[in-house]
Order: sequence, then C-alpha cells, then structure tokens
Amino acid sequence: MGLLVVGSLGLDTVATPFDRVENALGGSAVYISLAASYFSGPIYLVGVVGEDFPKKYIKLLENHNIDLEGLQIVQGGKTFRWSGKYHYDLNVRDTLLTELNVFEEFNPIIPDKFKKSKFVCLGNIDPTLQIKVLDQMENPQFVVCDTMNYWIEGKMDALSVLLKRVNVLIINDSEARLLAKEANLIKASKKIRDMGPEILIIKKGEHGALLFADDMVFSAPAYPMEMIYDPTGAGDSFAGGFTGYLHKTQDLSHENMKRAVIYGSAMASFCVEKFSTKGLEDLEYLRVHDRYREFLDLSRFDDK
Ligand code: AMP
Repeated sequence: MGLLVVGSLGLDTVATPFDRVENALGGSAVYISLAASYFSGPIYLVGVVGEDFPKKYIKLLENHNIDLEGLQIVQGGKTFRWSGKYHYDLNVRDTLLTELNVFEEFNPIIPDKFKKSKFVCLGNIDPTLQIKVLDQMENPQFVVCDTMNYWIEGKMDALSVLLKRVNVLIINDSEARLLAKEANLIKASKKIRDMGPEILIIKKGEHGALLFADDMVFSAPAYPMEMIYDPTGAGDSFAGGFTGYLHKTQDLSHENMKRAVIYGSAMASFCVEKFSTKGLEDLEYLRVHDRYREFLDLSRFDDK
C-alpha cells in the first residue's frame, strides 16, 4: 500500500546570498514525495497545479515512482507561487510572496486506490484541507502533519481540530513557540502534545531536531555542512525521509522513530546542498544510507 502525501506543488522564486532562481519546482508535497521516494513506494500524491505547471516537472515526479492520479490540473488556472529571500544567516528568511492561486479553490479528492493507505503525510497546506483529506481516508493508522506560522496565526480553529487527529506533528522551533505561546521548547512540547499529537518533532535548522514521545526526548544533530546553497524545502525533506523510512520498515517503535529522525535529517542535508529540488533528484539509496551512518559517528562517544 502506498504512502499518501498531500501538500503544495509550486513554482518558487528564491534568493540566497549566493544565487537566485525563478519559478523553480517547489512546494511541500514535492519535497516530501521526492525525499520519501528513496525509501518506499509508490508515493500517492494529492495536490493541485495550474495549466502553467511545466510538463518536465510532471515527468520528474513520475520518474520517482510518484503516482499522480490524485493531482488535479486546473485548465486556465495558475500554479501556487511562493518567493523567499534568505539572510546572511540562512536560518532567517523573509517570505516575499505567497500566491495561493489554484489552491484557493482546491478541493482535495482522494482517488479510491489511495483511500486505503495506512500512512499519511500531510504537508504544509491550509489545515481545513488537511482535515478534508483525513475525512476521506478509510482507516489511516499513522498520520504525520506539518504546518507553519501562516496557518497558526490565521487558521488556529481548524488547526486545533486537526491536531487531535494526527500522530506526529513536525514543526520548527519558532512555530512551536508560537503554537504553544511558550518560549521554552521543553514546556512548549508538553503543551503541544496536550493538543493532540502523541509525538512531536521540533526542527531547529542547522542545530538539528528534537523528538518527543511519552517521557522520551531524543536530540538529533544536523549534518555539519560547509556550504548550504538553498535551505528551502529542508523541513519537508525531513518529513519525507522520516515518514518514508517508517513506511518502508512498518515499525513504529520509539527506537525506530529515532532512526527515522536521522534519515529525515539526512534527506534535509541532501536537499540544502543544491538549489530547489536538485539535491533530491538523482540520489541513490546507498548514498542516503552512507550519510545515515555518518550521523552515527557524529554523536557517538565513549564515557571514559
Ligand atoms: P520549507 O522550506 O520546508 O518551509 O518549505 C518551503 C516550501 O513550502 C516551498 O517550496 C514553498 O513553495 C512551500 N510553501 C511556502 N509557503 C506555503 C504555504 N503557505 N502553503 C503551502 N506551501 C507553502
């Protein structure tokens, strides 16, 4: 059974201190699906694009064993567009433009074949749409969800309903503080888990990620990189690697979830090595696994 991925597909214009790209392939569902495709398949993608979405991007997704039966192509419609500018400190980014376009009228329709999926990854889109997706699933057993400031500030009612229906929430540190209205991340994690998700992952950019489950806290490092070209999509790649690995192994124990966090971090590191989705386009599983092993060495130490 495939892994269901829902989220945005878009055309991104991104500027970093090093370069700039216009109308490059982007969107939460795109990064999640590409990252997950190195672990499991097929990926069942649900989303919407306009007529202007380049055919070469459709081909690219299909070549990664991503099933596009759930992709709506709106004739005469314009694809979602997003633009961001990164500061010298690449952890800081300004959103310059969010044009929802075909997303404004989007009504996600899950094809029958996809409805039986047990694993669902809800990429960052309007939480009312994320709820609509869950409403159509037959018996989802493991739901991973991402969101962002935009929805925490603008759609908190829907988000509260959604959070009661997800198993894992993946957000970054500033989003966690905003959602919990609490500056300390440990206190924030308790408040957020009380809102619904039994597992919470807080991403901290180049400082790694924290996994909270029951009384356990697991701290994963980020891969130390000399050159980060474009941080766009790192969070989504993390979510794709995390969910893809769990879907592949079908093991939801806490120990396996720690491994999944490391695979997620590995996919995020590949993502930021190149602009747009380029870092996720031509990988091999062996390279992913090698990087996973490098993570083991990063934080292993003797106590004497
Ligand atoms: P990340 O860097 O992980 O936050 O993800 C960046 C991707 O999210 C970009 O490719 C954007 O196209 C997409 N994105 C940005 N804002 C939104 C939004 N409000 N809804 C859905 N997707 C978005």
